[in-house]
Amino acid sequence: MVSIKTKEAASAWIGLLATVIVAGILFILGAKGVPIRWIVAAVVLFCTFSIVTFVALFIIRKYVAYKLKPIYSIVLSRDVHTKEIFSELKDKKVENIGEELTAWADTNDKEIARLKEAERFRKQYLGNVAHELKTPIFNVQGYISTLLDGGLEDELINRKYLERAEKSIDRLINIVNDLDTISKLESSMNKLDFEKFDIVALAKEIAEQTEMEADKKQIRISVKGAENLPSPFWVVADKHYVGQVFVNLIVNSIRYGKEDGTTRIRFRDMLDKILVEVEDNGLGIGKEDLPRVFERFYRTDKGRSREQGGTGLGLAIVKHIVEAHGERITVRSELGVGSTFSFTLKKANLQNTK
Ligand code: ADP
Repeated sequence: MVSIKTKEAASAWIGLLATVIVAGILFILGAKGVPIRWIVAAVVLFCTFSIVTFVALFIIRKYVAYKLKPIYSIVLSRDVHTKEIFSELKDKKVENIGEELTAWADTNDKEIARLKEAERFRKQYLGNVAHELKTPIFNVQGYISTLLDGGLEDELINRKYLERAEKSIDRLINIVNDLDTISKLESSMNKLDFEKFDIVALAKEIAEQTEMEADKKQIRISVKGAENLPSPFWVVADKHYVGQVFVNLIVNSIRYGKEDGTTRIRFRDMLDKILVEVEDNGLGIGKEDLPRVFERFYRTDKGRSREQGGTGLGLAIVKHIVEAHGERITVRSELGVGSTFSFTLKKANLQNTK
């Protein structure tokens, strides 16, 4: 069997078949005595071959275009006109369409895998949110029920239970605020508001705000910028969000810091970037936990985190903010020695700062 791979070959075969039939008819007529000049016969055969091949090619193209229309419409996600495919078929081999479809199916497979992963993440995230909210809500419910069932008149527990209920409500507020920040960061509506500012001054401001918290554990916070002013550490970033990065990192360094410890904030000039490091000499993070600390709700010590008012979302927010600036954050840590969180920001052009 002859294998016909292209529409041109198929049409040529049809043309050839028609020519053979016409040649046969001419031969029979000649045999019956009809006078046929060989030059006329040759012209007739040539015309038969050309016309039939051309018409066959036209019909095949039309048929293929008609059959491919629904497939192309799906692949290109739009209503494709038969004429469009017809004209493409003029210079495109039909076998190329197979390759195109395979590539399209590959892309689709990848997209489906990505969507499945996103769906898995969404379900897990929703489960985590529900779980995190459940504990403080049930606590508040428990305290209020006890108070209503007579506890209110009991001087020994009424104040204690109200204070505990308040603590649970504070926890709820913290979680909701962090969730709100994450969803704001995720929605494209929330664009970053870039401005030039002195990152050392901002770090000092935030360090002062957290001083009271640090004093409880006698933790010293030092911000090491340049001695002389203006500071060379000016960046272009969203000041509000970068402030939040400092709050979260400094609060963590206190939360997971040791009594009498130190938190150091340092800056390094790296050509077009400023590297910021927040270093503590606290509890540190184990090797197995280190790659996961930026995940939502991941904690190395759940009890400690909750007890200290942690939501498990702080570092996820930090990472989100840094990455929204197109930068990176990394962590180095050793159990019992301490942790260093480092992130970069785009350096500002000081010439136009003032
Ligand atoms: P949390 O609200 O629990 O502090 P984070 O997202 O801020 O949540 O941090 C995630 C986990 O990473 C914390 O629960 C803690 O186990 C660990 N961690 C974060 N910062 C530090 C640090 N400076 N030192 C030691 N462990 C830390």
